Formats: sequence, structure tokens, C-alpha cells
Amino acid sequence: MTGDPKDWRLPTRLVRAGLTRSQHHETSEAIFFNSGYVFDNAAQAEAAFKGENDVYIYSRYGNPTVSMFEERLAALEGAEMCRGTATGMAAVFAALACLLKQGDRVVASRALFGSCHYIVDKVLPRWGVTTRFVDGTDLDEWREALATPANAVFLESPSNPMLDLVDVAAVSELAHGAGARVVIDNVFSTPLYQRPLELGADIVVYSATKHIDGQGRALGGAVLSTKAWMSEHFIPFYRNTGPSMSPFNAWVMLKGLETLELRVERQSANALALARYLEAHKGIEFVRYPGLPSFPQHALALRQMSGFGNLVTFVIKGGKKAAFAFADALEMVDISNNIGDTKSLICHPATTTHSRIGAEERAKLGIYDGVLRISVGLEHPDDLAADIGGALDRAEAG
Ligand SMILES: *Cc1c(COP(=O)(O)O)cnc(C)c1O
Repeated sequence: MTGDPKDWRLPTRLVRAGLTRSQHHETSEAIFFNSGYVFDNAAQAEAAFKGENDVYIYSRYGNPTVSMFEERLAALEGAEMCRGTATGMAAVFAALACLLKQGDRVVASRALFGSCHYIVDKVLPRWGVTTRFVDGTDLDEWREALATPANAVFLESPSNPMLDLVDVAAVSELAHGAGARVVIDNVFSTPLYQRPLELGADIVVYSATKHIDGQGRALGGAVLSTKAWMSEHFIPFYRNTGPSMSPFNAWVMLKGLETLELRVERQSANALALARYLEAHKGIEFVRYPGLPSFPQHALALRQMSGFGNLVTFVIKGGKKAAFAFADALEMVDISNNIGDTKSLICHPATTTHSRIGAEERAKLGIYDGVLRISVGLEHPDDLAADIGGALDRAEAG
């Protein structure tokens, strides 16, 4: 292949970017399952530790299989640099922790993944970082919060589980005016459908566990940003605190990236079909899917996303009792909190992923007892509609 991988078209990047073959000329990427590396002589080891030659030193710092994953994801994201992490949460935590110190201030959207909320609300304040939550959908709240200088802005868009959107370009501008760097958790939109760095965000984090693997196999994460920021802030923290990705998991994620577009496009088409089906069903109070014209932020979704993803959230009539009866009546869709899988999965956020945040916070976020979130998989949409329609009927009859 010739040229810069960043200039290749998306499908080419997904299967080819970052590929480096060993002396054995293997077709698929090799798994370098080793923790350490040897040097030809002591002087070479000395030079490596001074950073004078570009060699691997120890797999906590870097590993050839992990590097292939990092280069492929960087090429996909259009980022200068990427580092793989053990989990999505390791990515979120390292990105924030390397950025902040005692006395700093963080402004975050309230609608965050449960563990992200815990980091901002519980861990950072323990270290003397001031945190302020805002309604991420309300630009006036962001404007007011960012009238005071800040060091980091953290947000998720679309959010889990209500799929609220944050206007990434507008908030990035406000954040920069306040002196803050913008860290965005881009999991729900996937790297395919939202390009945060182009919208003005500074640092993008992923849980690769979700759509990048997308087949329920391995945990992983990633942090992406400019070479300058990564070199100065992230890499020293990463090398010395050890959230590194396993080479085996990096290989699983490399294989996942190869089919990412095929899977997510089909899943998103299935999700739109399901959202329309649910919207027309009498047992449903309302449906939230950014691709539906009825979605309150549909215009923003069209502006900042090129696709709407595989998550559909809806409110069933009859609260928790109806939600449980419906979930239990499903014969094909599985009850699980994971997302992005090839298999469709359903979750009742109020009693699982968002049970810890408490009823008051759930009410602020609109996570009512009748809310259900479906991560739509690759089953045929008619089979999905039959399973879901049958379960709605049985739940109602029961
Ligand atoms: C799953 C998820 C995470 C955490 O990722 P893990 O790989 O489970 O650690 C963070 N943010 C969002 C939006 C997620 O869906």
C-alpha cells in the first residue's frame, strides 16, 4: 500500500491501517504475547531508556500488537496519536487524572455512564478537584458554568441511557474560552458516526469493549488526541500507572475494527426500524432515538452525527412492573447491560446501570422506572419486531 493511511478511504483504513508484518510475512496481524524485549548490547538499552531510539522496552509502555490497534484506531479517528487501555474506564480515568491536579475545576454533563459519573462525583473531589454537573442539553447552563475558569470539560454524547446530545462544537468553544480541555466519551456514536476532534473536542475516549469488539469477547479502551498533548500529559502517566492493553485483547480489537462498519451500519438500520416500530406501538409511552424526527434534538443529531447508532431507549406504559414483565417475556433479546454486541440486549437502567445514582438524580436525567434501553444487534429486524411485539402483548395480557 502506498500513501498516508489517513488518506485511505474508511473501509481500507479499517482493514489495513497500522498493519506491520513480521519477518514471517503473516497475512493477519500477529499477536506479540510478550512482556519484555531484549537489547543487542548495554549501550542500546541505555539509548532506549533515554528515548533516543524507537524500540519497544516493556509491554506496559508499548507492544507491537497494541501499536497496530492504536495506529488503526488513530487513522479511523483522524487523530495524531492513540493509546490502547485495558478497559474503557481505564481510558476515562487516565485521560482525566493525567490532566487534573488539586485545586482544578471540572465541568461535566450530568448524563454520564455510571462509572464515569462515579469518577467525576466521587474520586476527583477526594483529590481536591472541584466538580460541577450541568444539564448537557442546555447551552445556557454550560455558558454559566464556564463563565468561571475550568481545566477540563467531560461529556458523553449521545448519553447513556436517554441518548441526550451535547452540542459538541458549541461546548468546545465555551470550554476553550474558560481554559478547559474537552474530553469526550464517544462510545455511543462509535468512531463512525461522530468526529469529535473535528467538532472541537481535544481528547476522545472509547470503551473498545462495545462496538469495536462488538462480539462480546474482550475488554478494552482507547485515548486519542494530538501528539503534543499525548506526549506531554498522557504518555508519562500511562507508562507509570499501567492501564495498558493486553496484546491479545488488542488483536481481538484489530479484528473487530475490520468489520466495524459492516456491523454498525446494519445494527443502526435495524435500530431505526425498531424505533419506528416501537413508536407506533400502543404499549409504548415514547421512544428516544436520535434518528427519529420526533427526537427533541433531531436537528442537532443531523448536524453533528453522520449516523445514529444502535441504541434505542423507550418508556413502556406501566412503570417498573410492566418493564420487568416485558423483559421477562422476551424470548430472543437477552437481558444484559452490555452494548454494541451482535446479539440484541435489553437493560432496565433504573434497577441496574443507574441504580446507584439514586432516585433524585435519575429523575433529573429522565430515567423513569418504565425506561428500557435496547442495544440492537444483527438479527433480522422482522425477527426482532416479532420478539418485542410478542413480549409487549404477553406483558400486557399478564
Ligand atoms: C461501557 C462504557 C464505558 C466503560 O467501558 P468498559 O470497557 O466497560 O470499562 C464508558 N463509557 C461508556 C459510554 C460506556 O458505554
